[in-house]
Amino acid sequence: MAGVPANKDLEYDPVLKTRVGAGEKNPVKMTVLYDNYVFAEGTKAEWGFSCLIEGTGKTILFDTGGESEVLMHNIDQLNVNLEKVEQIVISHNHWDHTGGLFSVLEKNHNAPVFLPYSFPYEFVRKVENALAEVVPVNEPVEICKNVFLTGELKGPVNEQSVIVNTSKGLVVVTGCSHPGIVNIVKRAKEVMGREIYLVFGGFHLMRHSDDEVKDIISRFRELGVKKCGATHCTGDKQIELFKKAYGKDYVEMGTGRVLEF
Ligand SMILES: [Zn+2]
Ligand SMILES: [Zn+2]
Repeated sequence: MAGVPANKDLEYDPVLKTRVGAGEKNPVKMTVLYDNYVFAEGTKAEWGFSCLIEGTGKTILFDTGGESEVLMHNIDQLNVNLEKVEQIVISHNHWDHTGGLFSVLEKNHNAPVFLPYSFPYEFVRKVENALAEVVPVNEPVEICKNVFLTGELKGPVNEQSVIVNTSKGLVVVTGCSHPGIVNIVKRAKEVMGREIYLVFGGFHLMRHSDDEVKDIISRFRELGVKKCGATHCTGDKQIELFKKAYGKDYVEMGTGRVLEF
């Protein structure tokens, strides 16, 4: 029979709540492993951030939260196999992003650890003593197919963010955004020369006034940021402002949140 072929080769995807075509069976998948807020039942929230990135050239662990026990609890709950992690990226030298690193390296030291260039020597030594390779990052760099780092951005604390090239556009994942979330977004756009689909992670705006946050939101609009998910250290009141401004384009965050692109 002529006409539209039946969707027999489409699989129901419980996360996207839609059918995924045969050619899109391996989308980029991101799972929030550690956050200040709970999204999925059974996971625990604590101050910190961590996110797993799959479906790119390599499986990447971005940041490791604050408390090892909480990270490991969520990893168990979410059926994550740490042995599959092939690269680890640490955004910046704060305990709520580095806290779980050494427990992760006990289970898997084969993944090189990408650290901002200015990390203290003692930290580098500690990673090397855990038998993992350290890769210092200064300039923007491609670390595997479809994953780039912004390079170290200067701020009250120097920091790097991850940029993932997806079929929908760029997805930028931030740790605390100490160099400023707008600077990070600008850098990501410069590095990649592509539109930004989604920015999520900690935006660090707790001490910013409503007007200052609204100004940042309008900068996001100017930069063409289509969707956003503000979490971790953004601040409760500030998160509400992003939610209100972005409406249906606001992406709910929290531990156990799975996003696919
Ligand atoms: Zn943080
Ligand atoms: Zn921080």
